[in-house]
Amino acid sequence: MTAKVIDGKAFAATVREKVAGHVARLKEENGLTPGLAVVLVGEDPASQVYVRSKGKQTVEVGMNSFEHKLDADCSEAELLALIDRLNTDPAVHGILVQLPLPGHLDEDLVVNSINPAKDVDGFHISNVGLLGTGQKSMVPCTPLGCLMMLRDHHGSLSGMNAVVIGRSNIVGKPMAQLLLGDSCTVTIAHSRTKDLADVVRGADIVVAAVGRPEMVPGDWIKPGATVIDVGINRIDAPEKGEGKTRLVGDCHYVSCAEVAGAITPVPGGVGPMTIACLLANTLTAACRANGLQEPDGLTA
Ligand code: NDP
Repeated sequence: MTAKVIDGKAFAATVREKVAGHVARLKEENGLTPGLAVVLVGEDPASQVYVRSKGKQTVEVGMNSFEHKLDADCSEAELLALIDRLNTDPAVHGILVQLPLPGHLDEDLVVNSINPAKDVDGFHISNVGLLGTGQKSMVPCTPLGCLMMLRDHHGSLSGMNAVVIGRSNIVGKPMAQLLLGDSCTVTIAHSRTKDLADVVRGADIVVAAVGRPEMVPGDWIKPGATVIDVGINRIDAPEKGEGKTRLVGDCHYVSCAEVAGAITPVPGGVGPMTIACLLANTLTAACRANGLQEPDGLTA
């Protein structure tokens, strides 16, 4: 079998188009422009790239983008005061604090100081609790993107066996909650899981969010299963020339694609969906804040 490739880049483009259409209607019919504020502390190059890309895509779908940059040595009080201002600013519907933060800042404290209704990353403890109890919440972007692709491919996920490899707060745990919400039978695997290969072999859906290059080989995959590869790992690529690198996922793409029914590539799978879902969450937050109907198909 050769797996169907789930094209995250194309899917993300359709999500952005949908968001842009709703944003245009909100402007015309309600005089409302959704706004996303991104807070960057310090000058981590990777974070700067992410923030630039988020700002660009926010503007492209017609929303307002507000960037706030603080020095790497800014005080916690300074950061909390900024978040406080954004929490009460009616032009700001979504707030994202780019992680990781410099070590002297308490990440949990900072994230939990964001107004949960504007917490478009879905990391606030209230949103974690709401998701865990099956209530309306802001859903973390990466797992939301995975869920959208799974629903699009399968329609109903009800009754399927899903294995999520990884139990982080930003990917593994919320992913498992979402799959449970869609009535999958969910197993969460992690570094202490025994016989991981056997666990994975029972899965109709495998979501790998580990951060170990090509850890999942094709012979772990049940024939016809759907493989969602969240991992983004940079490895040496001497075949491309000296000192060159390339990105790979947590799954060994070639061998998994021979067995799976469908698979997301790396790059071009889950990655592009993450920012698209951030835009979707900002739109959702703007609609909720104004008592307007939420767009269909852009939330869990
Ligand atoms: P974390 O490091 O926070 O979590 C990794 C998880 O993998 C942990 O739960 C860990 O288990 C588990 N793990 C580690 N080794 C093994 C092993 N040998 N067998 C089974 N489980 C193992 O990572 P994140 O969740 O933040 O990210 C995971 C990957 O997803 C990374 O490659 C990251 O770059 C990528 N990512 C991609 C995004 C995207 O937009 N596409 C967004 C976010 C992340 P334990 O808890 O026991 O230590």
